[in-house]
Amino acid sequence: MKHVLLRHRDVPDIHKLEVYRKNGGYEAWQQVLKMQPADVIDVVKASGLRGRGGAGFPTGIKWSFIPKGAEEVYVVINTDESETGTFKDRELLERNPHQVIEGALIAAYAVGAKAIYNYWRGEYMDAAHECQAAVKEAYEAGLIGENILESGFSCDFYNHFGAGAYICGEETALLNSLMGYLGQPWSKPPFPAIEGLYAKPTVVNNTETMANIPPIIVNGADWYRQIGTERSPGPKIACLSGHVNKPGNYEVPLGITYRELIFGEAYGGGIPGGKAFKALLPSGGSGPIMIDEHLDVPMTFEGPETVGSVMGSASLIVMDETVNMVWATTKAIHFFHHESCGKCTPCREGTYWMEQLLHRIMEGHGTERDVRVLENVAENIGGKTLCALGEFARNPVLSSIKHFPEDYRALVQPSAEIPLAVAAD
Ligand code: SF4
Repeated sequence: MKHVLLRHRDVPDIHKLEVYRKNGGYEAWQQVLKMQPADVIDVVKASGLRGRGGAGFPTGIKWSFIPKGAEEVYVVINTDESETGTFKDRELLERNPHQVIEGALIAAYAVGAKAIYNYWRGEYMDAAHECQAAVKEAYEAGLIGENILESGFSCDFYNHFGAGAYICGEETALLNSLMGYLGQPWSKPPFPAIEGLYAKPTVVNNTETMANIPPIIVNGADWYRQIGTERSPGPKIACLSGHVNKPGNYEVPLGITYRELIFGEAYGGGIPGGKAFKALLPSGGSGPIMIDEHLDVPMTFEGPETVGSVMGSASLIVMDETVNMVWATTKAIHFFHHESCGKCTPCREGTYWMEQLLHRIMEGHGTERDVRVLENVAENIGGKTLCALGEFARNPVLSSIKHFPEDYRALVQPSAEIPLAVAAD
């Protein structure tokens, strides 16, 4: 498939404005400046584009929530790419920043924003320098700034660094951080579309979502819908890592199966050393673990749900037969405990206790009762937290106990009073 998002792999030096423009860059932007904002939103709605950060909310509908005639509106790009095993936004902004900038400008025009903030994960310094150089070029060419291409529309673009917190990928925590407050989520409502940055209507879109916008405008919604599936249209970048022969970012049409992605010669190329597949984390540490019998479901927003999992940001971490799933779960929970912002008790305390229990089990001091308690703690986090991090933190625990009880049994002492049950069934 010809690249739509990873075009820099086909066009050398596309990060330079001159090369980007020679290859159709900013044509969508010029086209949009002659359109009515409502018509731009309609095209994006018709394309069926859904947010690529994980939640999959329809982008055009999100834009249409911005109140008409609002005087001060903001667009924010979510580049706080911190999910384990996710590295797609970094490549996009490092190698083809203009496509993301152009997408964000189109979003700004559609919703009437005069400023775009690109919120960066604090560790992405190199990519941010590339992006900043591209922003400078675009300003000098009159593509950003005052009275853009003499259209009467003005918009500024700011790159802003976070301090390296996973929770700032959650949109309200991101906005708090951007305003200089502690990076913690707020309870919705108010929703950012009504009261976001500086209490003004705000659109927050993921970096990859923005990269989809220019090709949709240039080629049309029908063209976009030819890629992917009816409910999950378009291309997606899958980040493949772990025990695969060829890890990396792959641009694929949504609907490809997980098996094809992991074992197909054009993609992961199978497991190194001829070892057997054991487990897949389909959305970094956040999504419920998938096993071999799940791999034939399509990678779409709906596909993994049929087997109790999620596509999320499509960061696939593959594990072979040598991996102990209690060890892998301990690593995931250490991450969530470390990244919990502490605002709500079930997440703050639950992730702490899950990590404690997992360490006890890993060190050989655990009992079957500890596994039941671990499961109970995870279940009690569910539905009781302010943001999705608490929900994410349950997934590795519950799905590893469900699919790999033998890994736990091999590490714990039996305790007669409460047998190890697979309660998730
Ligand atoms: Fe913070 Fe966790 Fe509560 Fe989210 S669920 S607000 S990360 S404590």
